[in-house]
Amino acid sequence: MSGVFWLDLLFFGLIGLAVGSFANVLIVRTPQEKSVITPASHCPSCQMPLRFWHNIPLLSWLFLRGKCAGCASPISPIYPLVELGGLLLFVLAGWLASFHPVALLTGAALVMLLTLSVIDARYKMVPDSINFAALFLALIGSGLLVFEHLQAALILAGLLALLRLGLSTLLGREALGEADIILGAVLGALLGLLGALQALFVGAMLAIVPALVLRAKGEMETPFIPFLFLGALVVLIWGESIARLWGL
Ligand SMILES: [Zn+2]
Repeated sequence: MSGVFWLDLLFFGLIGLAVGSFANVLIVRTPQEKSVITPASHCPSCQMPLRFWHNIPLLSWLFLRGKCAGCASPISPIYPLVELGGLLLFVLAGWLASFHPVALLTGAALVMLLTLSVIDARYKMVPDSINFAALFLALIGSGLLVFEHLQAALILAGLLALLRLGLSTLLGREALGEADIILGAVLGALLGLLGALQALFVGAMLAIVPALVLRAKGEMETPFIPFLFLGALVVLIWGESIARLWGL
């Protein structure tokens, strides 16, 4: 491994940590429709504003042992995990594209999907702003790298819009949300047509057992975005071998 490789890895990893840190701000503030810029980050329990050394991705949580420096109330491990996720997703995106700078956009799109996954799991909602950000990043990121992915995004959005129209007419109520159409386009842009369909399939498989467990507990709706995101990661990492396995 050359020195340039390690520098690339470090560069992508550090940007990933920073974007992961921003993703935490989105996770806390977007569902409450608060500004993501002001006020500065503060402890939700004692309102103490965070100093910059309380705000260093991963390290601060470890230094503080998962507790607020002011009031010692516990800080959810979700935050350092999202930061770590940001790091890993950027490294993955960079790795897959031989650290082409455009992969920074793909990495950011993946972090937006991680953000949507956490928000969906926590609040069962899909903020349009983050969904559109993911689409925008994925379209520019992969449209610049692979033209077929741009087409895949359009095809999937079109198919899902048709499906929505058909199902809604058939059922006499709203089926599939606009958010699903946008998400489909994001997957198409990131993975191509075949990859997006594979991700949907893998995500559905992964969701079966948790959905049954939740249903047994009386919870009828399973948040699907986290599983869709996992499916997308499986395809990104092992996609070609899955296609080979299926003789595609
Ligand atoms: Zn506090």
